Amino acid sequence: MLDILEKKLTENQTTRKGLTTAEAEKRLSTDGENRLAKKKKTSAAKIFAGQFHDVMVMILLVSVVISVALGQYADAVPIVLIVIINAALGFIQEYRCEKTLEKLENMTAPTAMVYRDGRLVKIPASEVVAGDVFTLEAGDRVPCDGYINSSRALSCDESALTGEAVPAVKKCRTSEIDFTALNKDYMVYMGTVVTKGVGEVTAVATGERSQMGRVSTMLDEIKEPETPLQKKLGELGRTLAIICLAVCVVVFIAGVLRGEPVLNMAMTGITIAIAAIPEGLPATVTIALALAVRKMLKRQALVHRLHSVETLGCATVICTDKTGTVTMNKMTVTDIFTCTEKSRAYGVTKEGASFDDKALKAWESPDLGRILLCGAACNNARLCPPEKIKKRDRGGRQSELCAEGDPTETAILIACANSGINVSSLGYRRTDEFPFESETRSMTVICADEKGVTTAFRKGAFDVIIKECSHVFSDSGELIPFGGAMRKQAFYKCDEYASKGLRVIAFSQQVDGEWAFLGLMAMKDPLRAEAAKAVAECQRAGIKTVMITGDHKLTAQAIAKEAGIMKAGSIALTGDELDRMDDKQLDEVIENCRVFARVTPEHKLRIVKAFKSRGHVCAMTGDGVNDAPAIKEADIGVSMGISGTEVTKQAADVILLDDNFATLVNSVEEGRTIYQNIRKFVRYLISCNIGEVITMLGGILMGLPMVLLPAQILLVNLVTDSLPAIALGLEPAESSVMKKPPRKEDDSFFSGGLMWHIVIRGLLIGICTLASFTVLLTNTHSLGTARTGALITLVLSQLIHVFECKSEDKTLFTVPYLSNPFLLFSVFISAAALFAGIWLPVLQKVFFTAVPSLGEFLVAVAAAAIVPVGAGIIPKLFMGKKSPDVTVNAPQG
Ligand code: ATP
Repeated sequence: MLDILEKKLTENQTTRKGLTTAEAEKRLSTDGENRLAKKKKTSAAKIFAGQFHDVMVMILLVSVVISVALGQYADAVPIVLIVIINAALGFIQEYRCEKTLEKLENMTAPTAMVYRDGRLVKIPASEVVAGDVFTLEAGDRVPCDGYINSSRALSCDESALTGEAVPAVKKCRTSEIDFTALNKDYMVYMGTVVTKGVGEVTAVATGERSQMGRVSTMLDEIKEPETPLQKKLGELGRTLAIICLAVCVVVFIAGVLRGEPVLNMAMTGITIAIAAIPEGLPATVTIALALAVRKMLKRQALVHRLHSVETLGCATVICTDKTGTVTMNKMTVTDIFTCTEKSRAYGVTKEGASFDDKALKAWESPDLGRILLCGAACNNARLCPPEKIKKRDRGGRQSELCAEGDPTETAILIACANSGINVSSLGYRRTDEFPFESETRSMTVICADEKGVTTAFRKGAFDVIIKECSHVFSDSGELIPFGGAMRKQAFYKCDEYASKGLRVIAFSQQVDGEWAFLGLMAMKDPLRAEAAKAVAECQRAGIKTVMITGDHKLTAQAIAKEAGIMKAGSIALTGDELDRMDDKQLDEVIENCRVFARVTPEHKLRIVKAFKSRGHVCAMTGDGVNDAPAIKEADIGVSMGISGTEVTKQAADVILLDDNFATLVNSVEEGRTIYQNIRKFVRYLISCNIGEVITMLGGILMGLPMVLLPAQILLVNLVTDSLPAIALGLEPAESSVMKKPPRKEDDSFFSGGLMWHIVIRGLLIGICTLASFTVLLTNTHSLGTARTGALITLVLSQLIHVFECKSEDKTLFTVPYLSNPFLLFSVFISAAALFAGIWLPVLQKVFFTAVPSLGEFLVAVAAAAIVPVGAGIIPKLFMGKKSPDVTVNAPQG
């Protein structure tokens, strides 16, 4: 095996970096995909077969056997037909659901940056093959085993493989390579995480040939567990089924003891069971959740785990990043302050720096030149080639420059270029680099000039840089001590810029072993247009918005004020202040904290824990390599789609594809809506089932003939259960959904008197159906007509009820009928199916129906119409006024 790899690697040593696409495809087909084990997909046939693995279907099949045994073949035909139609409907829904979840899985699958055909491209990690050259940076998950060609300050957390918690420092490979050994510092291993630095690696072992593949016993991917709601409703369904089966057994025994024929009684029992079991419930919940996930995706939120859809609706605190989430992460330098004997403040525009309204180039002012030189040298951004500059800019005399890379650095690079500093003509060669890290808040480069003299340039957060600087340059270019007055002025300037919401970056240069402070650049990062609106929406919805940032406290406060996050009485804390507090002190103030500035990922974890310990349901966003623990700890971990690292994305429950805070708020709205919708269809399904049981049981207790035959009950279930219930799951958000406080996570599903509504409505449906049956039977003496009338009453009262289930606050007269076209359509189809079952001669034979006269029809319809009227009066008699509201108070700040 290793010989082959060696051969492949030497084959790969062509002039071009990486493999060609054709070669990579060839290797992929021979070596297989780069994963530990292929996840077995559920085939369409398996999904279809699964439709018959159901208690309900089993009961129906027993009833078919009994019907045949009784010689009632006509009874058996519709049952078989309905079982097949039900299975087909279930299959279509489940198949679509499976496809949605599969698509999500593909979208959240890990990726890798690989050289193909000489270009660096992003591909799914599963397509990496031996011989590929890939790059790594902090936050990446290593896609496969490989040796390091080049690296800068690279270290990896290999605890998943070795159990060693301290990250392993990685170096460039030596000439001797041992592919098979663990713990080699010139190798990186699949599944480990890059904690620091950058590197370029050649892949040597993929999939199960990797070290992880050898030691891993985790051969199949973990199946998505049931969500709490799915579990709760599954249990409810099972409990209801057991109760109903017990009732059936009692009815059966009582009937047999009374001398009724055994098989007839068995058939009656089965009919009641069919009427009672809410068989569609768990499947409808899954379908509704999957549909919500699809809807969220359209709104740029990718839900990684199904259960987060429910939890999102309970969020009471959203902790959000600042840069890129609340702001646009599009920086522009607006001011430069240079620190010399005579400090100067420059304005910066597209034309470059200016002093006293006079545009200046870098070489016209030494202090300006020095800070710009440092800005351009200590910078990893690149100016865009002319073809990438927007067309409209190119025609103009002063075409706007654009740059690629980290937004802070692109802003600095453009300001330098506009003032005449051209990176390529600097004459400096970079010999070493300490890349920017959120932890150090700074970046340093060592450059050698044409004569080989080296200089270190540094830029970073003001407090980090100024601490180390002991000198400044004098006007004549000599080093002089960085005195108190000058220092004070620098602090003053930093605060002045920061309180305007500007990001401040400080610059320094090392001369003769001493750091000289060069000055500051202030840059504007505008607020996202939707941010303030989204924050206000959160406030209305009883959700606290908290901003957590690595930026300066004053900058953070100013942005938070602009976005509406900080109000009178709100507190802003820095990471240092947090460190000085114990948990009790933090607990006392945290409800009023709206801004945490200069924080590290460890602080984020502490903040999540503090909010959670106060009973909050906390959503936390993150993008950095070390944000994963806080994201995992949060009730809803949110990762950024654009700026997020691979590790945070894998740890998150939700990924914001556009990094936008407003998208997160939209997801909360979707989360609340779907929960309401699930309540809506559960209310509908259970009350309809109760109605059907009351009809059947009531008939037996009243000594009436069987009110509805098994085929008729099945027809009722078919037309009322599936389509309208799913359509209720698609209800649009009610306008009040973000005006109520969040529900509590441990709240009963039936809170707010929902159970009462369900029981009363079920009773009324049953009673009115029985009334319709009795009236028609007494007047027509035709069992067929009476049953048809009961069928009409039962179905119509359910189809009327479905509109009431649209809202828990509105009545039949105030619900917006047209807001959900799917519901209108499903009710139309259901009504059409009912009338077809009554008026089409072929179906009359299947469902044993008789065409009613106009008068008989009106009696049945009137009985159905009484249901909502009664339902309006009864709760008032029992409960006094309006039923309590569904939502409950969550901790508020
Ligand atoms: P958040 O995304 O959480 O709002 P942030 O983007 O402001 O935070 P970091 O990226 O960790 O936080 O930056 C922290 C500080 O480091 C910044 O306030 C800035 O002073 C400094 N900084 C940011 N980017 C760079 C860079 N490329 N080089 C040097 N210093 C930087």
